Amino acid sequence: MHLCQYISADEEAAKMKESGKKICMTTPLVEMDGDEMTRILWKIIKEELLLPFIDLKTEYYDLGLENRDKTNDQVTVDSAEATKKYGVAVKCATITPNAARVEEYNLKEMWKSPNGTIRAMLDGTVFRTPIVVKGIEPCVRNWKEPITIARHAYGDVYKNAEMRIPGPGKVELVYTPADGSAPQSVVVHTFDGPGIAQGIHNLDESIFSYARSCFTYALAEKKDLWFSTKDTISKTYDHRFKDIFAELYEKEYKEAFEAAGIEYFYTLIDDAVARIMKSRGGFIWATKNYDGDVMSDMISSANGSLAMMTSVLVSPKGYYEYEAAHGTVQRHYYKHLKGERTSTNSVATIFAWTGALRKRGELDAIPELQAFADKLEEATLSTIESGKMTGDLALITSLPDPVSLSSEDFIKAIRQKLESLLAE
Ligand code: NAP
Ligand code: MG
Repeated sequence: MHLCQYISADEEAAKMKESGKKICMTTPLVEMDGDEMTRILWKIIKEELLLPFIDLKTEYYDLGLENRDKTNDQVTVDSAEATKKYGVAVKCATITPNAARVEEYNLKEMWKSPNGTIRAMLDGTVFRTPIVVKGIEPCVRNWKEPITIARHAYGDVYKNAEMRIPGPGKVELVYTPADGSAPQSVVVHTFDGPGIAQGIHNLDESIFSYARSCFTYALAEKKDLWFSTKDTISKTYDHRFKDIFAELYEKEYKEAFEAAGIEYFYTLIDDAVARIMKSRGGFIWATKNYDGDVMSDMISSANGSLAMMTSVLVSPKGYYEYEAAHGTVQRHYYKHLKGERTSTNSVATIFAWTGALRKRGELDAIPELQAFADKLEEATLSTIESGKMTGDLALITSLPDPVSLSSEDFIKAIRQKLESLLAE
């Protein structure tokens, strides 16, 4: 019973509307505020699209750069701890400081990326999904449903050791066991002349936890999970990834997948790429670190705009942190500060909120909250489909005569749609 004072869901929705009652929440969402233009959007989204309809319960953490600096970045750590406690977070885009930002904000230190800190603390995997809407067609015609991509974010070429080989000689991989037993080695190559060599590694533990996040998320989304490596060529290294996924699936997830009517599908990376171009979408594609780095850029650009891409960090323990895939849109923020009109796309940030609210509703059994998240997404998409959108979409839409609205007017147009959907 979550519509304050009422008893059952369906009738109550109507009563709620009549009486102006708001949807109640039981557990707070962890709210991570952020920087620049997305911080501006964050406030408008809350005021226009959330607070009038939900008795919003959040535990607020200000991850804006000024407060991170003030707290010596403790606030980022605290927000990740809170996510472990409550299970669901929603995050605004934040600045990752570089030298220019250190000067601009007069920072004590070049603080680390908040996303990196949170990901390390939750041991999570990032899943990115394009938001599909009529009028913004993906370049690949047959993609009717979004393809979610996951990237393993540890090791391989990103933590390599590499060297230039100046001339003839032998390069070996040597493992020296910590227990003092005999070392093992393999010859990488015997060089006749100059060249290059590198050593890469990964950890069973990291691969297991990645696999766990992927299976968990596939079950939560009720979508098929694909995984691909180059195990035919890399018979030990990539094969280990394949084996770990297979082992975990058989032991812990197979039954649940079958019960949910979804499939775990392993295939060679080349085959995955070829199939994906011909597919209709609608599944999760788990990739190794490098494949995910490259392929996530392909998927997002094929879908039109980074502003139409959501991102969720899923921990192997089942904690969820939702955000937009884009950054703080700095260029628009400087225009905003000068008092100029901006037309910044708030869709991915709205979907971060709906993702988090829906998950909260699911975990706490509040169907009204889940239904509200659905309605807010529907209102957002149908606003675009009616021709009202932000400038970035107006440039690429196939709809005739799009109207390009300001950042604020776009959110207000969604509010209107939402009111009429909720009144139905
Ligand atoms: P960005 O914020 O993603 O924006 C890059 C450009 O993409 C914008 O200038 C804009 O193009 C377009 N764009 C992105 N999001 C848009 C939206 N919602 N609506 C309309 N256009 C949008 O990347 P950035 O400017 O390189 O980075 C700014 C800051 O964001 C950096 O300090 C970086 O550290 C941070 N960042 C944070 C996250 C995160 O928290 N997850 C992720 C990436 C970057 P036009 O200028 O052509 O309109
Ligand atoms: Mg990349």
